[in-house]
Amino acid sequence: MTTLSLYSPGTPVWLDDSELGWVFAEVSSCTKVSADTFTLVLKDANSKETTVTGSGTSLPHLRNPPLLESADDLAVLSHLNEPSILYAVQSRYAQRKIYTYSGIVLLAVNPFSPVPFYTPEIVKSYIGHNKGELEPHLFAIAEDAYAAMLLDGTGQTIIVSGESGAGKTESAKLVMRFIAAPKAPAVNSDTNSFVDGASQVEQQIQATNPILEAFGNAKTTRNDNSSRFGKYIQVKIMQLPRAWCLTAFYRSYYSIPIDKSSEQEFGHIFLERSRLTYQTKTERNYHIFYQLCAGLPSKDLQNLGLDADYSHFHYLNQGGPSTTELSDRDKFYATQDALGIIGIDAERQTSIFQILAALLHLGNINITQTRTDAIIDDEDPSMAHAMEFLGVNPAEFKKWTIKKQITTRAEKIVTTLTAPQAVQVRDSISRFVYACLFEWLVTAINESLTGKYGDAAARAETYIGVLDIYGFEHFDKNSFEQFCINYANERLQHEFNTYVFKLAQDDYVKEKINWTFIDFDDNQPAIDVMEGKLGVLALLDEESRLPTGSDASFLQKLNAQLDKPANKAVYKMPKFANAAFTIAHYALDVTYQVEGFLEKNRDTVPEEHLTLLTSSSNAFLREVLDTALHRVGTEPADPPSPGDAVSKIPDPGRTSLAGTTGRGTAVKKPTLGSIFKSSLGTLMDMLRMTNVHYIRCLKPNQHKTAWEFNPLQVLAQLRAAGVLETIRISTAGYPSRWTFQDFARRYHMLIHWREGPQLIKREQWKRICVLVLQKAGIDKSKHQFGETKIFLRTGVLATLEGLRSSK
Ligand code: ATP
Ligand code: MG
Repeated sequence: MTTLSLYSPGTPVWLDDSELGWVFAEVSSCTKVSADTFTLVLKDANSKETTVTGSGTSLPHLRNPPLLESADDLAVLSHLNEPSILYAVQSRYAQRKIYTYSGIVLLAVNPFSPVPFYTPEIVKSYIGHNKGELEPHLFAIAEDAYAAMLLDGTGQTIIVSGESGAGKTESAKLVMRFIAAPKAPAVNSDTNSFVDGASQVEQQIQATNPILEAFGNAKTTRNDNSSRFGKYIQVKIMQLPRAWCLTAFYRSYYSIPIDKSSEQEFGHIFLERSRLTYQTKTERNYHIFYQLCAGLPSKDLQNLGLDADYSHFHYLNQGGPSTTELSDRDKFYATQDALGIIGIDAERQTSIFQILAALLHLGNINITQTRTDAIIDDEDPSMAHAMEFLGVNPAEFKKWTIKKQITTRAEKIVTTLTAPQAVQVRDSISRFVYACLFEWLVTAINESLTGKYGDAAARAETYIGVLDIYGFEHFDKNSFEQFCINYANERLQHEFNTYVFKLAQDDYVKEKINWTFIDFDDNQPAIDVMEGKLGVLALLDEESRLPTGSDASFLQKLNAQLDKPANKAVYKMPKFANAAFTIAHYALDVTYQVEGFLEKNRDTVPEEHLTLLTSSSNAFLREVLDTALHRVGTEPADPPSPGDAVSKIPDPGRTSLAGTTGRGTAVKKPTLGSIFKSSLGTLMDMLRMTNVHYIRCLKPNQHKTAWEFNPLQVLAQLRAAGVLETIRISTAGYPSRWTFQDFARRYHMLIHWREGPQLIKREQWKRICVLVLQKAGIDKSKHQFGETKIFLRTGVLATLEGLRSSK
């Protein structure tokens, strides 16, 4: 079609708008200025005229025919451009439709309000139906995964992504609920024990949510219930002689920088540890502490030396007064119930609470300083409480908190620490103990989930995994935690790109059409800057291992190594921030303050303290540490074990316990950064072995307001998520693909049955397609015939739809 006919008077187009992104307009006139330049006069909805002169892609975007404008699947849009996509998502949201397909991806816009889409009836209605048959939904994706798993026996992963507060965790929970729901006729009313077992596991799977959220989620400025750890839960569904049985297993919660060398099997994404001892303004520590203060009966509080006013605790009051505490008490009861369901009885719960109380007391130990040395009062009441619950001798604890022992070849030298250094030691112990407790909980959860079917679970060949990690983050001040979180998201984005682009092009190959492979905007350069041989993590590790290393010299090295023309697009030295560096992520440029990077990356507990803790008189604490330090290898054997391949790769992050304690001299200490990197690597390997399904959550506004849609903010996320990037490949290729039959069925009315040499039989689908295209005057360059499908360039469908509706 020529430009003049494309922009004939009356054609609906999109006009740029600084606030809304784009607004509707109509072409009044289109005139040719030179060979390929045109001047358009556009009229907006208020009849205001605007003149635009341009050529090619700088001409206004075309709007879609109304029929397609809020289609279920963006892939059917005949004009695939940013405004059309944004409008489709926005107009569906305005109709209270929060889900939209974008090819293989399900877009989910957070309603920030309870919605009636998840009732048992709705769950039922999606069981056994193909993706296109019903309204787009999370359940359709889950059903798709389920069906694929049964059909070809491969593992499936549902990856839920999106920025912080977009709705990943809520979506992941709903998906889990759907997967765990009894599937007729698989699980029927037949009273065999497996059915009972299945429902029990189902209940246990549900119970894991309040527990993991209490211990691993916290209020941030972006999200009142922000996940501060990554989770990958595998649900295995096994066919037993007379029923299906369900079992589940959580992977990938590693929060401790230790590892039993090569035995590590799977990817681990760990808990944000720094939050335990420090929170920025308006943020909170992990929910469980507030729940404890609000929910424990006063007698129990008294026994633990706590009181209901959490502001007395340094570890809880740094963020200032909080606004979400109202529900903490109810949440505490829910946590207690859930702990009970997974088999942690009241006595064990008390032991857990004692450790939590000990951590709060640790944070309140008063550390002061003489002119040079740190001091702690022997009678410090917080120290007394903390040591009582930890089962550690206070004098020993005090000694190794204010002093440090250095072992040289010849002798052991004890030196004193300053108060800030002593505080560091104290806080590192708190973080370590909490991370171990989290680890222990995950182990307990896994034991309870797989308990009944331990052996069967190990034999199960297939599973559906749901991945929910922390979303991309960007605060006013970003540190090591944000770096790790964004690094993880960058890696996931890369997997997504590779998968989607490969998938689209694979179909062309399968259908044997002429096609030159095209590249996509790869985020590999950003990943290289972060994890490459001389990237941020490598330089950070190098610096962390130097006794004299500092944040400042780390930054110097970064700039020397990375501030080069080759990295110009991804690594920048910020103009207005000191002691910081900027990385251009797929989502956004983020500036990281280097202060604290080294300390956070090292995060080690002095050897003497580890000895004190592991020989504690508190049997439960010993069990917690023992479980956490030896959790590796306790996961049930699993069939596809990508870790096998990975574990053979020597990695400085994979060293023994000695790494943590600083005992070994031959091995390098594993740093948080290096473990994070190897964890992600194994996770990605794991994902690659499965068939992936994507749910992309979108946050429609920053104020968490119900049903408010900010088009520019959503646009930024759509861009960042590569939704538009995936569309680029479509526009370069053939976005519409129909089987001959489907195409003939929809457009046969455009031709006369008697056309052509003979009467056409209905079965001659391909022939009908040919005639339709001829009749509609579609140019040869705009379509291709594959083996079973017809491939159409963008815009063709709109022409056909236009002809069809005028019939
Ligand atoms: P983070 O990366 O910080 O963990 P997230 O993407 O996991 O963020 P969620 O915690 O799932 O975000 O969602 C944030 C809030 O949005 C929820 O607490 C809830 O109030 C609301 N929300 C999300 N999804 C839905 C939904 N499907 N229906 C109703 N409300 C929702
Ligand atoms: Mg979350």
